[in-house]
Amino acid sequence: MSKEEKLREFIEACKHVGLKITPQRVAVYEVLLSRDDHPTVEDVYNEIKKKYPFVSLATVYRTVETLEEMGLIKKVAYWGGSVRYDANISDHHHLICTQCGAIKDVEFCIDWTPPARMEGYRVHNYSLHIYGVCSKCQAKEN
Ligand code: ZN
Ligand code: MN
Repeated sequence: MSKEEKLREFIEACKHVGLKITPQRVAVYEVLLSRDDHPTVEDVYNEIKKKYPFVSLATVYRTVETLEEMGLIKKVAYWGGSVRYDANISDHHHLICTQCGAIKDVEFCIDWTPPARMEGYRVHNYSLHIYGVCSKCQAKEN
């Protein structure tokens, strides 16, 4: 699905649940769709501010929460720093830099299918986090 189609789908979904469609709300989703670096809410806010200087951080927070509730974006679990968001909701894995916190999408196949239940948990999906040092941080080491 293209970015435009996803935005249209979001607008339709907002109408469906009776959520007011504001340019700022649409802009939040647009920023998330156009980035693959898994930004924080603050990162999204800083980008939105350039176009909509009067938008508040609280509005951006609420919109991100709404997008997550609607299943349009996902939280990327991360052990340090702030919560990061991903508009790529397809199953994929992440490479995480333990020095700067960069998170990169990686796709590869693992010959393992998670069982429907594990340790009493109902399993719905899984993803791998691979930790290391990114090329930018490696360049700084020398
Ligand atoms: Zn790094
Ligand atoms: Mn991702």
